[in-house]
Amino acid sequence: MTESLSARDSELVEAATEAIKRRYRNDWQEVGAALRTRSGAIVTGVNLDAYLGRMAVCAEAVALGQMITALGESGIETIVAVRHPKPNEADRTIRIVSPCGACRELIWDYDRNARVIVPNGAGAIVVSIGELLPKKYSRERSL
Ligand SMILES: [Zn+2]
Repeated sequence: MTESLSARDSELVEAATEAIKRRYRNDWQEVGAALRTRSGAIVTGVNLDAYLGRMAVCAEAVALGQMITALGESGIETIVAVRHPKPNEADRTIRIVSPCGACRELIWDYDRNARVIVPNGAGAIVVSIGELLPKKYSRERSL
């Protein structure tokens, strides 16, 4: 599955962009995420960086926690993350970023059919979480 972005997908990118614009703090909050739940609601999150790097939490995980905490939902229709540039970066564009490996695992765990918006050259495309995480680790024989 590879799709170009629909108007609904662009709306999600805009929600992630607004979230990080609103909460950006250099070195602390630099990535925003937005997801659309299976019921159609949009929730956002920003990353939690930390002095101890291993304590950092990605924006996608915060958005997922927000979905579960505020809405009691657990299915992800589509998710996207965007990165805000640092103050010393010449390019001031907030750009779509791919989910890290740990987030790919997390997204897959919550919705095996989730759509993920990822960068593609100068633009973006939608792929399935399964495409981003082939041969996922499992204690089961097959998934
Ligand atoms: Zn991540």
